[in-house]
Amino acid sequence: MKVCPTGAIVAPYRLDARRCIAYLTIEHKGPIPKALRPLLGNRVFGCDDCQMVCPWNRYAGRAALPDFEARRGLDAASLVRLFSWDEAQYLRNTEGSALRRVGYEGWLRNLAVALGNAPPDAEDGAECGRALERRLGYPSELVREHVRWALAHRRDSARPAVAQPRHIDAASAGACTEGGGESSVAPGA
Ligand code: SF4
Repeated sequence: MKVCPTGAIVAPYRLDARRCIAYLTIEHKGPIPKALRPLLGNRVFGCDDCQMVCPWNRYAGRAALPDFEARRGLDAASLVRLFSWDEAQYLRNTEGSALRRVGYEGWLRNLAVALGNAPPDAEDGAECGRALERRLGYPSELVREHVRWALAHRRDSARPAVAQPRHIDAASAGACTEGGGESSVAPGA
């Protein structure tokens, strides 16, 4: 219960799916609730933190099937690079993957939130901001609204006097470009 970034496990054996990152970043089609966005950290497709600590999963072995291996370097891709994909690249790079499930618009929505959550004082923080600004004119209002939120959240986070409660996991604590922090995509995507 304690490991869940959004407090979705509200009691033993009870899960509020509306707060679960797997639901919010994959199944949910509209805007992600603003109160939950800072808690998503760099998770752009699912979460599975609870699976990592589930006692039953200690018996799980690594799958031998190549289908379960990370594809096209997506387990170490930077947020900025993923956010720069056009729709054709998204379709090409997610062929045969569950990542297709979220659709291109949802993909950009999720990445905008993750970029907004990247530490503004990181070495490549300026590049994260520029990547967001390049999407301010994107045709989808859903994407534009999340981009605006991300830019505002970065500005608020950069102000020392404004303490924002936020969850950033280890992978996002560094940065959001190549050689820095990475996006978090749930295993099997
Ligand atoms: S997948 Fe993540 S957000 Fe969803 S219940 Fe598990 S720990 Fe919480």
